[in-house]
Amino acid sequence: MIKKLLDKIFKPRKKKTEHEKPIHHSSEALKQQSKKKRPVLSAKKNTKKTAKNAGNQDLAEVIPFKKHQINRDLLTNAALRTIDGLQKAGFEAYIVGGAVRDLLLNRNPKDFDVATDATPEEVNRIFRRSRIIGRRFRLVHVLFGNETIEVSTFRGHHQAEGDAHTNESGRILRDNVFGNLEEDATRRDFTANALYYDPTSQEVLDFHHGFADIQAGVLRIIGNPETRYKEDPVRMLRVVRLSAKLGLSIDPATKAPIAKMAELLSDVPASRLFDEMLKLFLSGHAIESVTALRKQHLHHGLLPMLDVVLEQPLGERFVMLALKNTDDRILSGKSANPSFLFATLLWHEVLTAWNNYKKDNPPIPALHMAMNDVIATQAEKLAIHNRYTAAMKEIWGLQPRFEQRAGKRPFGLLANPRYRAGYDFLLLRCESGEIPVELGEWWTRFAEAENEERTAMLQPDTAPKKRRKRKPKKPGGNTSAIS
Ligand code: ATP
Ligand code: MG
Repeated sequence: MIKKLLDKIFKPRKKKTEHEKPIHHSSEALKQQSKKKRPVLSAKKNTKKTAKNAGNQDLAEVIPFKKHQINRDLLTNAALRTIDGLQKAGFEAYIVGGAVRDLLLNRNPKDFDVATDATPEEVNRIFRRSRIIGRRFRLVHVLFGNETIEVSTFRGHHQAEGDAHTNESGRILRDNVFGNLEEDATRRDFTANALYYDPTSQEVLDFHHGFADIQAGVLRIIGNPETRYKEDPVRMLRVVRLSAKLGLSIDPATKAPIAKMAELLSDVPASRLFDEMLKLFLSGHAIESVTALRKQHLHHGLLPMLDVVLEQPLGERFVMLALKNTDDRILSGKSANPSFLFATLLWHEVLTAWNNYKKDNPPIPALHMAMNDVIATQAEKLAIHNRYTAAMKEIWGLQPRFEQRAGKRPFGLLANPRYRAGYDFLLLRCESGEIPVELGEWWTRFAEAENEERTAMLQPDTAPKKRRKRKPKKPGGNTSAIS
């Protein structure tokens, strides 16, 4: 999954040739069927009119190709086919959000999101391989081979009657009120994320001066910052993450309320914070993001994980090395394993607990007690999924085995399926100064050596030999002993 995501970001996209024009999905029958069931939303081709009809004074600025210069060939076939399928069925459809922003910043978009006036059910009917997902925010995943295009229906103002729910602090719990294009733009987070690109007309529609902001290198929230953070505190994290990732400066009014509103994040479900945290750590810009959070004193309470990470002076070097390592891997197109990353982030917690347990217990049971403690408190608080915690424990559990360099044990460790992750983890520990560099070097040489050379590298076996247990006598097996 992560690999797919990374491949999408970093593998250069194949340029499309003339004959690779998008394939049209929609038949006349489908069009009729979709039309029949359409709700109040209109499907006007002219977006200026759409805004006008919605009673909006501020028409979108229409940015022509000559000005924005987005190369249509950088869109994937899946994105073009989705737009085409929707437009052929009579709906409005645009590439929106991060992809338009990234294209304008001359970056390769990591995925393509589409906004449309078709309802999720209508989108689902148009594309055979699609499914409706989400509860808080219903949308459709349209599948083309390995690629998924996320299609969302224009959102309306949630104060309108209907299916929008907020809690006492103003946080939006569910957001499924549909609206028109202009309303959808106003509901998005940043001006740079509210640009709509129609690959057919090659025009970009801009309701909030996002184009100018991108050109000026500014990240600016749409509307009143405090209200927008109250509606969804995760937007505060997105400000920091996106500005670090894209090298944009944060507009002062957008930045100002964050410090005093950061505590609202405690109200956000842990699973959603976890998703955002994963994006932050696996963006290829984790170091910049974390540094930015610290510089603005935003890390307290912003993410529970960051508190854990940054408040251990001993662990800081180790964590920064781990993040640097992850950034380098991602930016060079390699995969980064979230379990490995979380194992590094919580390692110094484990070490502290391990040292305490070692006072009264043998080292290995003490390590297991420490791991269980850390998982029970931190991992649970952070909603780290079981599938990650199991791998984290394996990586930690291997560490004492690297100390054993005699007898058959090193061969057994080399054959362990988690050896590579354990070894990479060991190297980080060496590099951070926690353990001697010599140990990591020994394992590097041992892994590369031929069999005979390996045997010569082994250290003398000083560990006490285990006594063989006598086999218990089978009851009634040897009667002669009795007689
Ligand atoms: P990335 O490149 O990291 O994916 P993105 O901007 O595309 O960045 P997504 O999470 O993919 O981020 O969201 C797609 C779009 O949905 C955004 O560009 C933005 O327009 C809108 N969006 C996402 N999250 C929010 C939010 N919390 N509040 C308002 N709009 C949002
Ligand atoms: Mg995106």
